[in-house]
Amino acid sequence: MGGREALAAGFTRAIRDGRLGHAYLFRGPEGVGKREFALRLVAALECQRGDGTPCLTCDPCRAATLERHPDLFVVGPEGARRVLPIERIRRLVEEMSSRPWGGRGRTAILDPADRLTEEAANCLLAILEAPPPGSLFLLVTARPEGVLPTIRSRAMDVFFGPLSPGEIEKRLGESGLSAERAREVAGLAEGSWHAARRLADPGHWAAHEAFLDGLLSPRAGDVETAATLVATLSGAEGEDSGVRARVDEVLSELLALARNALRALIQTPRPLPPLSPADRRHIAHLAALGVRGLARLVRRTVELRDGLERSAALPLALEAYAYDLREMAGRAGLAAGGA
Ligand SMILES: [Zn+2]
Repeated sequence: MGGREALAAGFTRAIRDGRLGHAYLFRGPEGVGKREFALRLVAALECQRGDGTPCLTCDPCRAATLERHPDLFVVGPEGARRVLPIERIRRLVEEMSSRPWGGRGRTAILDPADRLTEEAANCLLAILEAPPPGSLFLLVTARPEGVLPTIRSRAMDVFFGPLSPGEIEKRLGESGLSAERAREVAGLAEGSWHAARRLADPGHWAAHEAFLDGLLSPRAGDVETAATLVATLSGAEGEDSGVRARVDEVLSELLALARNALRALIQTPRPLPPLSPADRRHIAHLAALGVRGLARLVRRTVELRDGLERSAALPLALEAYAYDLREMAGRAGLAAGGA
């Protein structure tokens, strides 16, 4: 049984035995399904079946997972400062103290709970200390150190680790992806369900392939190339922070490809997972750098990723990176200059 299934089974038992707590802190890295788990828990509570598991097909279940259930209040970041402000938490206290629509109780999801302002946190603390009957507070965060210790002490701690490749593969299979593709995506998703879902989207892959082709092609390093690289990824989102996130993601794919290239170089007996033609092309290019060249590339890639948040001009940072890759290819004796 996967980690999530065991966790869900624990909550089901708590619901059946009437031992469910009033507040939980769902903590763990971004993109591992904490919010999704919280919504399924609400569905389990509201489901018409009433056995502590969600059927996911009845009206209350669907309303819960779509965040539209009248007894569910989801509080997220607001305004330019992206915080959970005091005004919203005051309103939440009123909402949570009113009579539930369905008769069972009311649930609040605060995500991300580390974005509560200090005033808002103190207001929330007051209701956590004397929770209305049947109320449930689910605090979701990837940065638990940003949640007031007084609040943490009022909530039961639930840790969500990265998903195993097997769990991701299974879920992708359930969502209709071919077994081969699901295995490939699960191997690259690094435990993140968000990443897996994006990676499973063919348009997404095409953009990444074009990006990696541009980066690893012998002509990378031209000013035009850096601009083109950014443009290949910016199609859908446009917004700068979205592009940064995707550059980060494609660099993490590049690192996974580099690991595969290294495995090919040192002839590890473990067989490589099934690869797409583009992956094979990229791995062949990376393997041609040799072990020392690959080590340099990995170092340089990690350095670029670490600086992504801070670098003011993304195209310039990418241009310098692409230039360095070209130099590495030159040192390894690969053709540089003509494509
Ligand atoms: Zn149901």
